[in-house]
Amino acid sequence: MQLTVDLRSDTVTKPTPGMLEAMWSAKVGDDVFGEDETINALEAKAAAMFGMEAGIFCPSGTMTNQIAIKCFTQPLDELISDQTAHVYRYEGGGIAFNSAVSTRLLNGYRGILTPELIEPEINAENIHYPHTSLVVLENTVNKGGGSCYTLDHIKPIAGLCQEKGLKLHLDGARIFNALAHTGDAAVNYGKYFNGISVCLSKGLGAPVGSVLLADKETIKYARRIRKVLGGGMRQAGFLAAAGIYALDHHIERLAIDHAHARILGEELGSLSWVGNVIPVETNIVLFDTVEPASAILAKLAEKGIKASDTGKNRIRFVTHLDVHAEQIEYTVGVLKGL
Ligand SMILES: *Cc1c(COP(=O)(O)O)cnc(C)c1O
Repeated sequence: MQLTVDLRSDTVTKPTPGMLEAMWSAKVGDDVFGEDETINALEAKAAAMFGMEAGIFCPSGTMTNQIAIKCFTQPLDELISDQTAHVYRYEGGGIAFNSAVSTRLLNGYRGILTPELIEPEINAENIHYPHTSLVVLENTVNKGGGSCYTLDHIKPIAGLCQEKGLKLHLDGARIFNALAHTGDAAVNYGKYFNGISVCLSKGLGAPVGSVLLADKETIKYARRIRKVLGGGMRQAGFLAAAGIYALDHHIERLAIDHAHARILGEELGSLSWVGNVIPVETNIVLFDTVEPASAILAKLAEKGIKASDTGKNRIRFVTHLDVHAEQIEYTVGVLKGL
């Protein structure tokens, strides 16, 4: 029997019946007036989870990242990120547009930066150079194939930033995947970052939303920036309720997505039409194909399996809560038969 399997992204999930129930019964108000109690509860809950003072609910991870960059820089500054960073590659040039900031791109291994890579790229005080004011890390690294920082990787980077007077922001679109893999505790993250973006609509399965976490002063300013970007929402507690439900019910199950990704990675490693398979850490599987990726994607599509190419000969599978064990088994069968 042919199944449908959507491995394009962990953004394709639909709300579960329990999540819809929570949304339906949410208490709401006008959040621009600060009166939506469900949004207030989500912001407080997420901040407490990460040991941060405050939070702000936004429609997308792009918006939380862009607001954070605006909060932590001045025009003419420069930020440092890996060359694969979502903030640089996939946010439409927003760093330059929204913040008038330039970007210094580094070459981390699978997108993971180290103090040794960062330190030489911090500009000295000199009117010829943009002023370096911010480092942005991503955990997990999307383009790194779901690669993870542990807190032990992060601590010396945070130490360097503190010593040099730089702010440190985490694009934690998939931070819960990283925590599931590394075993680090979310609550310990707050003391190392000035800002943390957490996506509710990736592996956590909410239909919309991301929260930016920081200290109270930063979040107060972030509310101003969110408004000017057009992100001030009204009775969005219906969406925040989905986020709260996701934080309560969809974190522990991420281990299932990781196990599924590992099964796919192991299978791919044994196939003659597959080249390199990037070691699987979380819910993303990246692999190279001998034929053009587009030809493989077309064959998969005929069998009901959707995936995406991230290069001429590279395919990406992402597992998530709408991909069940039987669909993984089915996918393995199809991959074997290609
Ligand atoms: C998805 C994603 C985001 C945010 O994307 P939105 O689609 O704007 O919510 C940010 N960073 C990374 C690494 C992502 O994968």
